[in-house]
Amino acid sequence: MTRRALIAGNWKMNMLRADGEALAAALASGFAAGAAADLLVCPPATLIAPVATKLSGCAVAVGGQDCHMNESGAHTGDIAAAMIKDLGAGYVIVGHSERRADHGESDETVKAKAAAALAAGLTPIICVGETEAQRDAGEAETVVGNQIRGSVPEAAAEDTIVIAYEPVWAIGTGRTPTIDDIAAMHAHIRQVAGGVLGGADKLRLLYGGSVKPGNAVEILALEDVDGALVGGASLKAEDFLAIAAAAA
Ligand code: PEP
Repeated sequence: MTRRALIAGNWKMNMLRADGEALAAALASGFAAGAAADLLVCPPATLIAPVATKLSGCAVAVGGQDCHMNESGAHTGDIAAAMIKDLGAGYVIVGHSERRADHGESDETVKAKAAAALAAGLTPIICVGETEAQRDAGEAETVVGNQIRGSVPEAAAEDTIVIAYEPVWAIGTGRTPTIDDIAAMHAHIRQVAGGVLGGADKLRLLYGGSVKPGNAVEILALEDVDGALVGGASLKAEDFLAIAAAAA
């Protein structure tokens, strides 16, 4: 099964409008249509519309970093999946470890958000990953398996969601698991997700955590790694495009 790679950039809470538009313009001119990977940027909610405008007509997709689980209503400061879609987005990240930690999001919350994304016509990128203590205790596969069973909504199919494996201790630290550990975890995730979804041959699994141009080729060459979720290195067009080129 050939799965098309997805290289997704998570801009997190970075950039004002001028910088975001400049980065989007650099990606639009630097990313070749017909490339081997799909390219996606997930700017802060304030920049989805201007970035989508800069990227209109080019092959780079836009996504959100989070959405609310409800369609509308009294949720001050929150953003519904349909609102993100309305701005031109096609994807939304849910369950990033920073949201799980900073906002106390449980698997149940993440599942409801992913379901809301699907209902709005967005592709949810569902994030899972163990802490360093859990890995050291030999619990990484159990933790991640439970997160998948708890966070993937019933309405999901293998080709309507993306799962991103992001070990919490590798995010923004410059550290990564060994290549064997990444391969083993991705094989485990495909097996668990296949049980939940009734098949996972078409499911795209991203690795995230300190992906850089220097390690992307090796990571993206792994059989069960179908792309990357990139934080810091997605803020520089040159680095992000180099990671996308590594998926060829
Ligand atoms: C992330 O936050 O999703 C991430 C992977 O960050 P970084 O690439 O900076 O480790």
